Amino acid sequence: MMRPSALAMAATLTLTTAALVPAAASAHAGAPPRDPTAIGYGGAVSTVDPTATAVGLEVLRRGGNAVDAAVAAAATLGVTEPFSAGIGGGGFFVYYDAGQRRVHTIDGRESGPAAMTEDIFVDPADGLPYDFQEARVSGLSVGTPGTLATWEAAAGRWGTRSLRSLLAPAAGVAERGFAVDATFRQQIADNAAAFGQFDSTRELYLPGGAPPAVGSTQRNPDLADTYRLIAERGTGVFYRGPVGADLVRTVRRPPVAEHPTGTWTYPIRPGGLTREDLAGYRLRFPAPTRSVYRGLDVYGMSTPSSGGTAVGEALNILERTDLSRVPTIQALHQYAEATALSFADRNRYVGAYTPQPVLNKLISDAWAGQRACQIDPAHALVKPVPPGDINASGCTPVAVGGPVEDGQSTTNLTVADRWGNVVEYTLTIEQTGGNAMVVPGRGFLLNNEMTDFNFTPTQGSAPDPNLPGPNKRPRSSMSPTIVLKDGRPFLALGSPGGATIITTVLQVLINRIDLGMTLPEAMAAPRASQRNSAGIQSEPAFHLRYGPGLTELGHSFAADVAELGAATAIEFRPGGSLIATAEPARRGGGAAGVVRPRR
Ligand code: GLU
Repeated sequence: MMRPSALAMAATLTLTTAALVPAAASAHAGAPPRDPTAIGYGGAVSTVDPTATAVGLEVLRRGGNAVDAAVAAAATLGVTEPFSAGIGGGGFFVYYDAGQRRVHTIDGRESGPAAMTEDIFVDPADGLPYDFQEARVSGLSVGTPGTLATWEAAAGRWGTRSLRSLLAPAAGVAERGFAVDATFRQQIADNAAAFGQFDSTRELYLPGGAPPAVGSTQRNPDLADTYRLIAERGTGVFYRGPVGADLVRTVRRPPVAEHPTGTWTYPIRPGGLTREDLAGYRLRFPAPTRSVYRGLDVYGMSTPSSGGTAVGEALNILERTDLSRVPTIQALHQYAEATALSFADRNRYVGAYTPQPVLNKLISDAWAGQRACQIDPAHALVKPVPPGDINASGCTPVAVGGPVEDGQSTTNLTVADRWGNVVEYTLTIEQTGGNAMVVPGRGFLLNNEMTDFNFTPTQGSAPDPNLPGPNKRPRSSMSPTIVLKDGRPFLALGSPGGATIITTVLQVLINRIDLGMTLPEAMAAPRASQRNSAGIQSEPAFHLRYGPGLTELGHSFAADVAELGAATAIEFRPGGSLIATAEPARRGGGAAGVVRPRR
């Protein structure tokens, strides 16, 4: 499928993957390393995937900066982590500019189509909300993707390389292929019924009707072509050209197979996204959220993500107790109470259009005082806790709780360069596998981000800030976070995991800052998530170790989950060394690397 012009262009690119990504034939022997921790100098990259990390490191080695490396690594994740990330989706890019000593953000979240109505996920036949999977695997769930625009803007504003050269390594990986690992195979197996409904998806990911074998070579020549077409002709081919036309056609006329593989019980509904929606897509560049935690400046993502305010509010509540001086169970009790309170407020108040004064209040120390006053060190609050009354001045909750959401998709990467610039970037297509439709001939999956809206109002008689609307962006939990100490980077981290992203980021922060752990220990420690529901959701190891003590304080536990999150992080040490970390085990383990390893 490769066009001759694209072939010619590929040969002229300065950066190729030939040296760093093994050809398919030797994929096993020369595969890049999968180390969860790397310590050294000169820049670092941490992602969930060894190939993406290797691509990012190579960009740094050749003199690119953190933004260049982040874009090249993200484009590679679009190939090797296609069920979590890609040009069919969106995300939030947080950048610390060492020259300006300033944190910038890009909101590349998917936007609702202009035709989106508040009741888009309500079945006109019976007035009831669609089942989640019915809404997900449809054209209705697709928002205008912001990922490609994010890469272009980041590279253009802060990078030193052309988008064209940054797409080249990923195109090479897509063309040559990479070895299928157990996680990749499992993500397909989990989606086999949905993927089997569409010829385009099935051809790519269900060869011969089944998920590819572990160790086999996965190629995506259509995506290689798409990346090269964009490299050659610019992002207009996506937002205003032939790739966009194919995307819109897929949404409006889902490419349902004549003879599907597997059973899908729901009708596959078309969506209303138009070429005008694509052409009208605009990035936003909101100021980051900022909260001060024990003297550290914590920068996060503002709306439409709830990540920055929810993390900030919980930290402000936690700051009122010296967690390093109380027993671990008490620290974890405070953690669970703080997140329950902060989720209640997030559900009530945070959506795409929350006014800035409300966001400011939620992330203020005064508000933390109004909320923390309810925490009893000896006994857990009854969940769900009500949200606070934003107009009150005392310790006054109001009625009605909120829903619980979680998810497993999405991916995160952390990059630092030798100049001290830092990128923390979370990108997603929402569920693992997005809406299950590969755009025919283009090689990428579409997002189902619109299902991050609440399908029906969740806040009783109070307004719900996260209902669908025309051109509106659904609330996110993605929490790319950069922590500064005395104005210089100290820690950068983020994770996938739906609403559990917020608690994972918080837990790694308090593990590292308060509970005496090193960064690799803080990442590996067992996780738990209290998002204002009756039971704490936890990994089995957490439940085993801390369950009895927390139960004694009145906490309940929901059913265990195998894992929470798949984080990446970098710590900046005095003297200039870097500790890059990824997951040692979750999601099959991630890959951290540094430009010059410490001897
Ligand atoms: N769509 C989710 C969000 O924006 C992320 C999905 C996930 O991590 O599972 O919050």
